[in-house]
Amino acid sequence: MSATATAAPQTAGHATASLRAYDPAYDPLVSSTPGHGTDYAPTYWIGTAGPPPEDDGPVVSDMDVDVAIIGSGFTGLTAAIFLAQEHGIKATVLEANRSSWGCSTRNGGQAQCASGRLKRSQWITRYGLDTALALHRECLEGMETFKALIKDIDCEPQPGGHLYIAHRPKVMPTLAKEVECLREVFKYDARLLDAETVKREWVDDREAAGAMHEPEGIGIHAGKLAFGYLKKARALGVKVHPASPVQGWETRNGVHHLRTPGGTVRARAVGVATGGYTSQTLHGELKNRLLPILSNSIVTRPLTQSEIDACNFRTRQVLTDTRVLRHYYRLLPDNRLQIGSRSAITGRDAPQKKYEQFLVNDLQRKFPALAGIPIEYSWWGWVDVAHDMMPRIFQPDPSQSLYYALGYGGNGVMYSAQAGRRLAQWIAGQGASLQLPIFRSKLPFPNIREMVVSEHFAPFRRFGQWFLYRWYYLNDEIL
Ligand SMILES: Cc1cc2nc3c(=O)[nH]c(=O)nc-3n(C[C@H](O)[C@H](O)[C@H](O)COP(=O)(O)OP(=O)(O)OC[C@H]3O[C@@H](n4cnc5c(N)ncnc54)[C@H](O)[C@@H]3O)c2cc1C
Repeated sequence: MSATATAAPQTAGHATASLRAYDPAYDPLVSSTPGHGTDYAPTYWIGTAGPPPEDDGPVVSDMDVDVAIIGSGFTGLTAAIFLAQEHGIKATVLEANRSSWGCSTRNGGQAQCASGRLKRSQWITRYGLDTALALHRECLEGMETFKALIKDIDCEPQPGGHLYIAHRPKVMPTLAKEVECLREVFKYDARLLDAETVKREWVDDREAAGAMHEPEGIGIHAGKLAFGYLKKARALGVKVHPASPVQGWETRNGVHHLRTPGGTVRARAVGVATGGYTSQTLHGELKNRLLPILSNSIVTRPLTQSEIDACNFRTRQVLTDTRVLRHYYRLLPDNRLQIGSRSAITGRDAPQKKYEQFLVNDLQRKFPALAGIPIEYSWWGWVDVAHDMMPRIFQPDPSQSLYYALGYGGNGVMYSAQAGRRLAQWIAGQGASLQLPIFRSKLPFPNIREMVVSEHFAPFRRFGQWFLYRWYYLNDEIL
């Protein structure tokens, strides 16, 4: 790890400064913790969110707490907010680096009505109709949870729904079936749009062969949201300690001893909210339970009005396309274009310029009028993918007061708020009331059959991932 000292930590009353420079090659399958006081990735969100709010400084001595949450991303902070608001529990949040350093300040800011990576029709196949309908209600409720939470946070919401763009004509029949299923079975007001309508009334994405519009979907400024959650949590009495990586974990007589560089935190209960930055050594219950995959994002300089017209950008709603390794993109409030998609497989390869160039090429294929436009921000981050593509908010061992909310598979901007709420319920002793499969089983180990059936990511980690990325490319672009 290329760690360079950059500044001394500040005490409570300020945002804790970084101890170490950002490490672009960090890899959760290689490193034992995600760093110690490492600076933020150079994202558009961090570049434009303003200074981070105050935190409680690093842990500096041993301490006893009731509930410790590991990870200060959207999940950890919302779990702490709901523990305080709905259960009267003031949690202590331990963060390895700067506050919300992981995915939560690196994403595309697309709050979608989803939980995990599967489509509604795939829920029916896997769980049966009743459970699929209940999962849909959970997502709708999650959207309401999210909207209520962000009401008083200035995070530049871009509401109105989500446009899911068919990137080739061959996917239209499948998309039409999904729309029918959403309308007829789930009573969800999705609409199928033909290519001409998309290009004329929404956006002239040159690849668009049609699209599905769904009514739920909000774009947000990820940095402002993360900082808003931090302020909200602290106003409720939550303590947030950055630069405090949990480097050792022992449980004795029901008490968790979490070793950080500044002292051991002894906790009655622990919530794990470490997302794609969960190391293999954090706890035995988590080893090999997640596939961390890299996603890249770029942001252009602000588009001129004539460039906006040339792309016929008539919507500012969130956009994705139908590739398995999908693109997520939108016109931001300050007229910049953001687009993201897959990246390298290992952290070591992530900084290679070619991954940024792939995205630039994709952007130009969709919007030829933007050929050569300067790219002002470029970054990447680790997404936590569950091996069966569905998250879990669960207590994996009933004899241990350890709970986790993990595995959103790149759909965590909205769902982390609902998952945080569910995690808080578990920690407060109300887990028995949570009946959906995502609340009743552990994150599974890799299962080859599930992966092949759901046509999603590889169970066999990196070699399989490499192989499947090529297969997805063939399937998405050529066959
Ligand atoms: C490039 C990218 C694009 C994305 N785009 C979207 C999108 O558009 N829409 C969407 O819905 N989702 C998206 N996601 C996913 C989304 O960002 C996350 O699901 C969401 O932010 C929730 O993250 P989290 O809080 O669970 O984890 P994170 O935000 O990753 O937070 C986990 C934290 O745990 C800390 N940590 C880990 N180990 C330890 C330890 N041992 N001790 C202390 N702290 C520790 C890490 O430092 C990290 O800050 C994207 C993700 C990436 C990477």
